[in-house]
Amino acid sequence: MNSRRLIDSAEINVAEDEILTPRHQKVPFSLPDIGQQEIDAVVECLRSGWLTTGSRCVAFEQDFTRFVGGDVESLAVSSCTAGLEIALAAFGIGEGDEVITSDFTFSATAMSIVHVGAKPVLADIDPSTLNIDIAKIESLITPRTKAIIPVHYAGLACDMTAIGDIARRHGLRVIEDAAHALPTTWNGRIIGNATSDASVFSFYATKTITTGEGGMITFADPAVAKRARTLRLHGIDRDIFARYSAAGSNSWGYEIVARGYKSNLTDIAAALGIVQLKRAWDFYKRRSALVDIYDAALAELPIVRPPRAPSGDVHASHLYAIRLNSDAAISRDAFIVGMAEAGVNCSVHFIPLHRHSYWRSSLGVSAGMFPHSQQAFEQLVTLPLFNSMTDSVQAYVIEAARRLLA
Ligand SMILES: *Cc1c(COP(=O)(O)O)cnc(C)c1O
Repeated sequence: MNSRRLIDSAEINVAEDEILTPRHQKVPFSLPDIGQQEIDAVVECLRSGWLTTGSRCVAFEQDFTRFVGGDVESLAVSSCTAGLEIALAAFGIGEGDEVITSDFTFSATAMSIVHVGAKPVLADIDPSTLNIDIAKIESLITPRTKAIIPVHYAGLACDMTAIGDIARRHGLRVIEDAAHALPTTWNGRIIGNATSDASVFSFYATKTITTGEGGMITFADPAVAKRARTLRLHGIDRDIFARYSAAGSNSWGYEIVARGYKSNLTDIAAALGIVQLKRAWDFYKRRSALVDIYDAALAELPIVRPPRAPSGDVHASHLYAIRLNSDAAISRDAFIVGMAEAGVNCSVHFIPLHRHSYWRSSLGVSAGMFPHSQQAFEQLVTLPLFNSMTDSVQAYVIEAARRLLA
């Protein structure tokens, strides 16, 4: 495969001449791990005569429910963004409602709230975890507040016990943005196993497992899951129609019972997802080993390393985000340029919502309201981390970082 060759050539460059220049292949920020099994599964689906939502989606949903330990209902969707929107709609959240979430997230989290007609209310983060500041949540609750969307940043679980307590006290729904959290645990419980009312995962190309584009919602309440299943595909309910039609004559029949979406997953994507999910724990183990190496190798540098999971819990290790101390010899922006010149692609997760013109004008937010989010953004660099990264490629990234920071 092309992408694999790209990595191998980086490895050879490092081994042979120690210096990887922009003339050579770059170290990508992220790379999907697609093997022959995934390719075979997709080809088999293509040849099967059934491409859209069908038996493979059903199997993927069942596998996902098993993966998170059962007792929930899984619903495959076209993206995490679509999943958040469907979950909000399934709980009846819309016009006039407010939903509390983090300023330090991808815009998709807040955009899903806007799309159901509700208003995102942004909270600052806890600077030690980069997750939503639990202490801030309660001060943002108004009579219009209907839900909280915590984001498990980089794969580190939010304090779901505290968030659950607040939600119960105020009668709020909790919908997790679990885009980074496969697999993540909180108090030994895997995220998605009824850790809230609904958990929404992403299978976008850079996430811990991928279907190209795709997502999964797990619902604690089967009645809500049923509503979401109807919303996922145009608001179609085949059961209602079947009840009123003569037996055997209703294969063409359906009835629109709700303002639905077109957010179903294809069987082509589900075929890919079934294989990726089987490999998810192996992927995690590799990323986790890479994180241990990063942590040890970068310990002496003027940076804040990413927070670890509490002892006994799993951090999905989706992102490895370092923060440059104010006494670092180089600015964050110059560091990213220096890494790029060495052929290493870094990123920044995230540009906080309050820094985007749309959110500033529509929500009236500004930097002064989110000092921790703002500071994290100014200092933060996400280093390449993906499970097919070889030891020597990682050693090269570490050397490049050390040269710039030491
Ligand atoms: C990637 C991401 C999303 C959106 O996922 P899609 O599947 O691309 O819709 C939402 N929230 C966070 C925190 C993300 O990183």
